[in-house]
Amino acid sequence: MNNPSSGVLDAIVVGAGFGGMYTMHLLQQKGFGARGFERGGDVGGTWYWNRYPGCQCDVESMEYSYQFDDDLQQEWNWSQRYAGQGEILDYANHVADRFNLRDNITFNAEVTSADWLDDEQLWEVSTNGGAGAGGETVRSRYFIMATGCLSTTNIPDFDGLESFEGDTYHTGNWPHDGVDFTGKRVAVIGTGSSAIQAIPLIAQQAETLTVFQRTPNYTIPARNKPMDPAVEADIKANYADFRAKGRQSPSAFGVTYPHHMDSVLEATPEERERRFEEFWGHGGFAFLAAFGDIAFNEEANFHAAEFVRNKIRSIVDDPATAELLCPDTVLGCKRLCADNDYYATYNRSGVSLVDVSEYPIEKMTEPGLVTNGVEYEVDAIVFATGFDAMTGSLFNANISGVGGLPLREKWEAGPTNYLGLMTTKFPNMFTITGPGSPSVLANLITGVEQHAEFITNLMEWSRARGHAVVVPEQEAEDAWVERVNQRSNLTLYPTCNSWYLGSNIPGKPRVFLPYVGFPHYSEKLADVVANDYRGLAFG
Ligand code: NAP
Repeated sequence: MNNPSSGVLDAIVVGAGFGGMYTMHLLQQKGFGARGFERGGDVGGTWYWNRYPGCQCDVESMEYSYQFDDDLQQEWNWSQRYAGQGEILDYANHVADRFNLRDNITFNAEVTSADWLDDEQLWEVSTNGGAGAGGETVRSRYFIMATGCLSTTNIPDFDGLESFEGDTYHTGNWPHDGVDFTGKRVAVIGTGSSAIQAIPLIAQQAETLTVFQRTPNYTIPARNKPMDPAVEADIKANYADFRAKGRQSPSAFGVTYPHHMDSVLEATPEERERRFEEFWGHGGFAFLAAFGDIAFNEEANFHAAEFVRNKIRSIVDDPATAELLCPDTVLGCKRLCADNDYYATYNRSGVSLVDVSEYPIEKMTEPGLVTNGVEYEVDAIVFATGFDAMTGSLFNANISGVGGLPLREKWEAGPTNYLGLMTTKFPNMFTITGPGSPSVLANLITGVEQHAEFITNLMEWSRARGHAVVVPEQEAEDAWVERVNQRSNLTLYPTCNSWYLGSNIPGKPRVFLPYVGFPHYSEKLADVVANDYRGLAFG
């Protein structure tokens, strides 16, 4: 409970996406006095900000949802196999209403600094909104960053950006009232998951759409469809089993399709094609489960990649455009995308693709943008240029630990922590789905539930024993960093440039950020708890 004499809270939670919401719920249930701060105007996190046309989850809705409350998962009905942004935001709002989560959350309040006070052994957190909208400073024993993995948008530092006279948008900060592109000449920069979802819909409205592509991406048709009531009823009849199976999968989802463990290389060419075709037909991430070695063996991966390249060639009418759309990297090395008619969109009149791999976008001008000496005049530019992933929002909060050490400085060469949850010199601070945890490689909702439960159980455990401070041991942190690196080196992930490695942000150290393998990670967490929180020091 709050300590009324000092006004010190038990916990401050930053972010009111799915991680922050569930953490606030658990803290309330366990009798901790907590306040939440959220820079957005309401709950929902990613799904509050990413309102671009076509925004849809790439994890199936029966899996991309909370499992902590059986009544909730039984009563909520999803309308689609893959839910769209609006429906997921409705769900977040429903959860906030159902569990009275807004009562202790201050919206439109961004954390501007968070400092560990060595003498008081407390966190002091300042915001730029909240009380009277002028900001406030509050203190707490625990400090929980639930700011999400993909929440700090990245707009590259293009020369002349401010001189462009048309409208600009970033997919991750889309206007709430939507955008009407009718009759407009639109440029989209980027061909990641966000662009791949937005492009088919923008193309339907815009007069012309020019896509500026630096690196092509693999995408598998999502094959979204209305929820099949029989499938829904079947899952709901055994939801606990379904969830348990999900947690046993490497990515904490994917229960609706088989995960084959046999090798691409041992299959006959006919069997290979048949299996790839079957999984292409299933749609989305399932494609990676067609064989057991796609993510681990370069030759196996080549066959899967070649299958997709041949699909691109068969869908896209113009052979030159088709070749430009064919990636030559490892499939799945960058996050695999799931789309609705992405490749076919390039067959529409008015849609064109500009390769900026060799000749980057040089500058923005008043009427448009320039690459390879050619000026493209447009009315609007959509930046689908991604995020400063995993660490961007942690650094933006200006966090400092013991002796005033800035987190930015501690993590100058890349994030180092224990279990992806805590870092030395930052006592009583937690990161939900932080770097070094399965985070973006797993079902995020399952991941945030796991972390919120771990953190609040640890707080209860500490409270029962009269501990005021918890911090990782240096040795435990060093071993964890080593483990995260070893796990990623078993895969093909480090073989290309991607935001998983921070390589989309100039100057960011090249470090593989997430932990590979949700079940493996879960075993480790369970072992830590069973051994009185081994690797953590209490005071
Ligand atoms: P992203 O994957 O990082 O893609 C950014 C795109 O912008 C890339 O194509 C990148 O090219 C391009 N780009 C960046 N700087 C550029 C420059 N200076 N010039 C030209 N192109 C430039 O970002 P995202 O599409 O927003 O997706 C991020 C992640 O969010 C996804 O991987 C996924 O995890 C998540 N997401 C999920 C869904 C879903 O659930 N379906 C939807 C959207 C996003 P390079 O590749 O050459 O760097």
